[in-house]
Amino acid sequence: MNFPEKKLGFGFMRMPLLNSDDQAAIDVPQLEKMVDKFFERGFTYCDTAWMYHDFMSEPTVGKAVVSRYPRDSFTIATKMPVAMLHSHEEGVEIFEKQKEKLGVDYFDFYLVHDMGRANYENAKKYDMIPFLREKKEAGEIRCLGFSCHDNAEFLDQVLTENPFFEFVQLQINYLDWENEGIQSRKCYEVCVKHNKPVIVMEPVKGGTLAKLPDAIEKRLREARPDWSMAQWAIRFAASLENVKVVLSGMSNEEQLEDNTTFMKDFVPLTDEETKLVLDAAEEIRQTIAIPCTGCRYCVEESSCPKGILIPNYFALYNTEKLRTREDWSPEKEYYANFVKNGNGKASDCIACKKCERVCPQHIKISEWMPKLKVEMEDNNYLMAE
Ligand code: SF4
Ligand code: SF4
Repeated sequence: MNFPEKKLGFGFMRMPLLNSDDQAAIDVPQLEKMVDKFFERGFTYCDTAWMYHDFMSEPTVGKAVVSRYPRDSFTIATKMPVAMLHSHEEGVEIFEKQKEKLGVDYFDFYLVHDMGRANYENAKKYDMIPFLREKKEAGEIRCLGFSCHDNAEFLDQVLTENPFFEFVQLQINYLDWENEGIQSRKCYEVCVKHNKPVIVMEPVKGGTLAKLPDAIEKRLREARPDWSMAQWAIRFAASLENVKVVLSGMSNEEQLEDNTTFMKDFVPLTDEETKLVLDAAEEIRQTIAIPCTGCRYCVEESSCPKGILIPNYFALYNTEKLRTREDWSPEKEYYANFVKNGNGKASDCIACKKCERVCPQHIKISEWMPKLKVEMEDNNYLMAE
């Protein structure tokens, strides 16, 4: 298997935007500069997916990467959105369109996207796994794997029933390592047991671990004054022996500069440093309200009948809860603007739970909506205009 020499991968799911309300409005010139620096520093792994950025991630990677660099100088990973399929033919058509959108005739890494219980059934119902194995035989897929947000027991079942999968993409970060809902450690151990290399997604938990409560940040800075909080998080995941790539959804040059600098000649965490972040995880768990990673499955794989911008509102709610200034709330202003732009508001939720069925973090979204209403809508004078 052709895993890259350097463990950092570019996750094209949080690219720089020209308009923060529009996921399709990607700032391509800015992205190209970031891609250039990423490659200049010797990194090669690029990860995209069918539905990222309102279906615009793959064509943008085609433009910013594939059309600008020799095909053998980078590796492309993309995924089959089994959750969205209604027939075998639809899957076949998507596979062909992905090659077209990316401008490639083979994929270095190809994944069944989000192999949870329901999606596994869909993949079997529409014969997607045999189809992808045929594509591997034909050379259109070099390495076949799947991403998984389900628990360790289910992951063990999938790997036992399908031993030909070559790698697994897992959500691993120090906050979720011992979290019973996510089971990062247990899932990692299942992969080790099956001898499957791991690619890590959400090492910074959708940005949550980039900014920590003051007391925790202070402690980590005392240990390593020159490390950012995101560095601690990415280093934790990359230090695991069976991890071959850690994806980072880099949204600006500053993040790219930081990530590529310390990952260029990566040195794993010491035992003492590992203990420090795992202790920090215990404390952080007490402070974060909603453990949303911003993966957007609830708005892209499913679609809310009320047009509620679930991840955007959860991110606002979480930062609102960590707010220290009493006199000003940018979060409430952003919230009011989203609503004024025609998006549904938390109080429109009819508790249909469509979103919850696809949420990899198992968040009880419909139960949070009334709390969001109280925090973001009640007593928000901007909502009245
Ligand atoms: S439960 Fe609420 S937020 Fe979720 S899809 Fe239904 S209406 Fe939308
Ligand atoms: S609520 Fe769940 S599915 Fe939606 S963005 Fe957050 S983690 Fe992803």
